[in-house]
Amino acid sequence: MTQTQTTATSSAIPEKMQAVVCHGPEDYRLEEVAVPSPGPGQALVRVEAVGICASDLKCYHGAAKFWGDANRPAWAETEVIPGHEFVGEVVQLDDAAARRWGIAVGDRVVAEQIVPCWKCRYCLRGEYWMCAPHDMFGFKRRNPGGMASYMLFPVEALVYGIDKGLPPAHAAFTEPLSCALHAVERAGILFEDVVVVAGCGPIGLGMIAGAVAKYPAAVVALDMSPRKLELARKCGATHIVNIAEQDPVAYVKDMTDGYGADVYLEGTGHPAAVGQGLNLLRKLGRYVEYSVFGSDVTVDWSIISDDKELDVLGAHLGPHCWPAAIRMLESRLLPMDEICSHQLPLEKFQEGLELVADGTTSIKVTLIPA
Ligand SMILES: [Zn+2]
Ligand SMILES: [Zn+2]
Repeated sequence: MTQTQTTATSSAIPEKMQAVVCHGPEDYRLEEVAVPSPGPGQALVRVEAVGICASDLKCYHGAAKFWGDANRPAWAETEVIPGHEFVGEVVQLDDAAARRWGIAVGDRVVAEQIVPCWKCRYCLRGEYWMCAPHDMFGFKRRNPGGMASYMLFPVEALVYGIDKGLPPAHAAFTEPLSCALHAVERAGILFEDVVVVAGCGPIGLGMIAGAVAKYPAAVVALDMSPRKLELARKCGATHIVNIAEQDPVAYVKDMTDGYGADVYLEGTGHPAAVGQGLNLLRKLGRYVEYSVFGSDVTVDWSIISDDKELDVLGAHLGPHCWPAAIRMLESRLLPMDEICSHQLPLEKFQEGLELVADGTTSIKVTLIPA
C-alpha cells in the first residue's frame, strides 16, 4: 500500500544562505553555503536566533573535551556549522514530520541539542542524553547547527513548540535553561536545604531559578560581578555573596551554624570553584558539577571521602527538562531582557565570541541570522 506524502512549504526558500563554519580551533569563517533540503521525515527550519554557549567558546579555543588529548579522541569535527541553542520557524516538512512532532509550517520550534541514535543501550533505557555516538547539533557533520539562516531537524530529533510571542533570543534560551534545570534535578533538593549556586552566568541564573522553584530554605548565589548578583536576586536568590569581597565558605558556615551548605551547584567552569564547593558543603552534602573546564582541576579528594562522605554528581545537557524550561520562559517570570544582554547579526559571530570570552559586560550573547 502506498501513502501519498504531501510536503508543506512556506514562501520562497532561497538556494544559498550565510553560515558560520568551523574549520578547527580559532578558525571559524562566515561562508555562503547551500540551504539544506529536507529528506523524508525531516523539517527545514528558518533560524530566528542562536545563542553562543560557553562550550562553543571552549570548542573555539581548542579545549581537550572537544579536540581530544592523550586520554580521549577528538569528539568535535571540522567543516561543521556550530550552534546548539537555536529557535526557528518551520518552513518545510512532510506529513510524517508534522505528525511525529505535532508541528506545522509557520510554528516556532526548538529542538534538544542532542540528536539521539535511539539504538544504543543508553537510548534504549531512556537515558538518551548519554547516547553513545553523542551527536549534538553543531559539533558533528551529520547535524549542522543553528549558526546559519536555515537548518534541518533530523528524524531522531526531539522537537517542541514554543510561544511565538517571545523575543527570539528569549526563546533560544530554552537550551541553557533546560541544562540548568537538569543540574537542579540531579541535586535532589529538599525543602530544608541551603543551596549554593556558584556562578551567575546563563547556567547559574537558570540553576537559581530552578532551585528556587524547589522551595528550599535558602538559595545563595556566588559571583564576583555586582550586576550578575543583582540578576541572581531577580531570579529568586535569597542571599547573594560577592566572592571578591567576602569569603563564601565563612559566609555559608555562618548561616548554617557552622555545618555548611546541603547542596552546591557549580556552574562557573573555573577550577577554583571546585575546591570552594567542597569546602563550603556540610558532611554528606551533594555537589553537582555542570561546567566544562578549560583545564585540569586539582583538589584534595579526601574531602569527598574521609572528611565529608560527599555525593559528587555530574550533569550534562537538559534531559526531560525542556518542557519545564519552555513553561518557565513562557511564564515571563525571569528577567530575560537583562539575561539576553547582547543580540548581534550572524556575521558578527567573532565579536559575539569575544563578548562571551570577556564575560564582564555580557550574560547571554545571541546571534540573529538574516
Ligand atoms: Zn549550550
Ligand atoms: Zn543512542
